[in-house]
Formats: sequence, structure tokens, C-alpha cells
Amino acid sequence: MNQITTDTSLVATVLRQGGVIGLPTETVYGLAARVDKASAISRVYAIKGRPLDHPLIVHVYDAQQCGEWGMLSAAARTLADAFWPGPLTILVNRTNRISDQITGGRNTVALRVPVHVLAQEVLRELGIPVVAPSANRFGRVSPTTAQHVLLDLADEVDLILDGGACLIGLESTIIDCTTDEPQVLRLGALTTAEITRVTGIDIAPPSGPSRTAGMLENHYAPRCRVELFETNEQALEALSWLVQKKQSGRIIDYGSDLATYAHSLYDDLRQCDIDNVSVALCVLPPPSGVGLAIRDRLFKAASK
Ligand code: AMP
Ligand code: MG
Repeated sequence: MNQITTDTSLVATVLRQGGVIGLPTETVYGLAARVDKASAISRVYAIKGRPLDHPLIVHVYDAQQCGEWGMLSAAARTLADAFWPGPLTILVNRTNRISDQITGGRNTVALRVPVHVLAQEVLRELGIPVVAPSANRFGRVSPTTAQHVLLDLADEVDLILDGGACLIGLESTIIDCTTDEPQVLRLGALTTAEITRVTGIDIAPPSGPSRTAGMLENHYAPRCRVELFETNEQALEALSWLVQKKQSGRIIDYGSDLATYAHSLYDDLRQCDIDNVSVALCVLPPPSGVGLAIRDRLFKAASK
């Protein structure tokens, strides 16, 4: 069966009937199911092998529709007005239409309006939001192409919508708007500095108990070992050591081209596994802009 399609109407129909779909967004591909279909959401958890207390991000067509699912505070509204549609997930208190199954029993719900044209088309046609965690097994590398989803989850999803390579390639920035001062729970392409510059809202670092999978120490990991370096020279030196020990290594380094680094990282890590590379030697990008989010993913991928 050909599981990859570009037909958004077909995808909306399969979702409406309770199916599970590989859905492209500008961040990474999601594993989508209707918010109101408990059996489909159970399948999402099962396919990912995701613990049931790790809540799912709800993807909504527009900010207006969000009001039915979450109670947007003044800060949440300001962020939504400024950055939706886009790679920002906002954590707010949920309405009673959101089930415990989605939030892991929490009173909060994570909402996002994606900007990807095909995701928008599906959500508009479906008329109801979808949950869409990243379409990978729990703890592994997120998919950034339809092929990645096919390779990982082939027989387990009903259909994969091919929206090309994800423009950004890293998961969304998550901001918790339920605390007195909004907190960043996961770094992403949208930086806290940019949020403050545009909205005047200060974003605090996370405090209190871990609330997201993005706050776990080990995540986003390929099968191969990941080692981190500050400079390309250090990575080259390590590579020559590996070669002497008859091991294979591959350097991942995009210098200060942060957009390309973000866009390519997950594909590069996956390719290391496909090519049976023993060690991915990653050079850390500068710690500014999206470089901060890339470093966060690299530290987690390298953590054992
Ligand atoms: P992913 O599965 O890669 O899309 O990641 C979704 C992220 O959103 C995970 O880190 C979740 O823990 C986080 N998340 C979703 N809903 C909530 C919620 N209600 N409270 C806290 N974190 C959430
Ligand atoms: Mg994920």
C-alpha cells in the first residue's frame, strides 16, 4: 500500500474517521489524531511507546478555535497574536473539552497553531484540532521528512502526508503561560529574546517540577554515540583517533549557519544510523538565536 500522499482531503477524511496520520508541520512531522477520538489517541501513545503521563500538543487551525480548548490568559493572547501561526506552543489552563488522556491528568493544555500550508489545510477541512506529538518513537530523533516517518513507523500509521522537508527542523518553543511570569519549557527556533523584543513580555527559565519531555536529560537520541565539540579542529582530532581505532565517525558542523544546522541536524543523525556510523561528532553552534535550541538538542542527544 502506498502510504504517502499529498491529498489533504483524503488525510482529513482518514482523521475524521479516527485514523492516525503522519502530518507535516514547519517544525517536525507530527503523529496526528483527532482530539476527541480516545481510541486514535491511544494508538498515538502506543505507536510512540510514549509514557501515558507525557502530554500531547494540540494543534489548532487558528487562535480563535483555541478558546474552546484552552483558557488563554492575557500573556497567552499577546504571544498568540504575535507569533501564531508559527513554531510556538503555549501552555494554558484547559477547558473541560480536553481529556485527561491528552494532558496526562494535568489541568493544563499545550496549544499550537502551525503555519505549514498543508497542516493548515487539513485542520481547516477537519474543523477540529488534532494531537500531534513528534512522529518518532519516544526518546528518539524527530522526523523532518515524510520518508523519515515511513522508515520509522511504516505499518503503524494509516497515511503520511508529504509536505516536503520541514522548514525549521526542530520542535516548537514551549512557553508556560500558567505561571506568574511565563516560563520557557523547551527552546526552539523562536527565541525568548525575540519574544521579549516583540511583545515586551519577559520569559523566565523553567522552575518547579519537570513538565515536558523536552525537559528530560536524554532525548532526541540516534542509535550511534553522539560526542560534542566546541571547534571543528577538536572534532577532526577525535575523528582521526576513531580512524586509528578502526571505528567510523562523521562530523556534523554547519559553522554559524544556524538555520541550515537546525534544518539538517535530525536528517544527519538519522543518516549516521543508516550508514552504521559509530560516532556522530557534532560541533556545537554559537549559543545565540536558534543556536541555543540546537545546543539543547545536541546535549540531550549526547546524554546517556
Ligand atoms: P512532542 O511529543 O515532541 O511534540 O513534544 C511535546 C512536548 O509538549 C512534550 O515535551 C510534552 O511534555 C509537552 N507538553 C504537552 N502538553 C503539556 C502539558 N499539558 N503540560 C506540560 N507539557 C506539555
Ligand atoms: Mg518529541
